[in-house]
Amino acid sequence: MSEPGWPADGAVHRAAAVVDLGAIERNCARLAAELEGGAALCAVVKADGYGHGAVRCARAALAGGASWLAVAAASEAAELRSELAAARLLVLGALTPAELDLALEVDADVAVWRRGFLELVRARGRALGRAPRVHVKWDTGMGRLGERDPHAVLGLVEAAAAAEDVELTGLWTHFATADEPGSEFFVTQLERFVPLADALRSAHPDLIVHAANSAATLVKSASHLDMVRCGVAVYGLDPFGVDPLARRLEPALELRSYVADVKAFEAGWSAGYGRTWRAPEPTRVGVLPIGYGDGVRRGLSNNADVLVGGRRRPVVGTISMDNVTIDLGVAPGVEPGAAAVLIGSQGGERIGAEEVAERLATINYEVTCGISPRVPREYVRT
Ligand SMILES: *Cc1c(COP(=O)(O)O)cnc(C)c1O
Repeated sequence: MSEPGWPADGAVHRAAAVVDLGAIERNCARLAAELEGGAALCAVVKADGYGHGAVRCARAALAGGASWLAVAAASEAAELRSELAAARLLVLGALTPAELDLALEVDADVAVWRRGFLELVRARGRALGRAPRVHVKWDTGMGRLGERDPHAVLGLVEAAAAAEDVELTGLWTHFATADEPGSEFFVTQLERFVPLADALRSAHPDLIVHAANSAATLVKSASHLDMVRCGVAVYGLDPFGVDPLARRLEPALELRSYVADVKAFEAGWSAGYGRTWRAPEPTRVGVLPIGYGDGVRRGLSNNADVLVGGRRRPVVGTISMDNVTIDLGVAPGVEPGAAAVLIGSQGGERIGAEEVAERLATINYEVTCGISPRVPREYVRT
């Protein structure tokens, strides 16, 4: 019926993740301003900045008031170091010996929680002619990485402090349930951590004790200590999975595509693999050139809305690797080339990563991390 169209808004790509670096900067400024007792803000930019692009987001976070950057992997620290010569970097995760060498070569701080690993850090530091900075990790209840026994934690701290060839820099833990409103276990972990952390900070005045993720930072100032490690909130995503705006966070990412074609359907016609949707009555179907190969998960088949023409339009049919079909209804107005927003705002309507996550029974973190490398990241600054 209509001619295929090109993006009316001049978009170059079939799909793009548009990241507002101004929003990241403002989110960091807001978090940093509300920290208790001058605590430092460490922006967590692992997993390519939760899908937003690590280096660009790291720069924006530093401009907003973050003074540290954290990642999970040595390769991520190396990527940051190649662009950010002076930034303080912390690798949170487990490291193979080869990864440890890379982390030390790019002058990142590393986490330690086993005596044998501390010895390896010392040896590799000597071999590389550096005194590695270490953060002793105490597992106060996450049940993942870290030393569980407080006596062993104490022993590690004292061993690192006594060793000439490493620098004891931090003592830290991680919360399992800070994002659950009213969680008692969160309080239990905090109460376990703080007394020993305080005592060790008295003995080692330069020790940086840190525990809070975004959720803890937002709900409990007593968890701020010397530094907070905020990830999801930096990107304007709600750690509680509800509404970032209600927490005065600005979502930084929009996932956009466009209507590449519009076609009239008669009642009974189907769209997509497996014919999982059939038009109950005559309608018009729009085709967006974005699919699960871009990170629009197949679980959203017949189970999501997209904003087109300033209105919500339901996804109809099965999401393919490269295409999504939406029901535009019979009313005219949407022509090929119309902008489509899968995450973000248009015409007063908004679809958050939280909404997409809820449809998929997952969390907003996984939604933005899942936007694939095929989707170019474009940067704006508002
Ligand atoms: C990812 C991560 C964070 C950041 O968590 P958010 O919930 O995104 O703020 C903090 N600390 C550790 C150890 C992490 O792995």
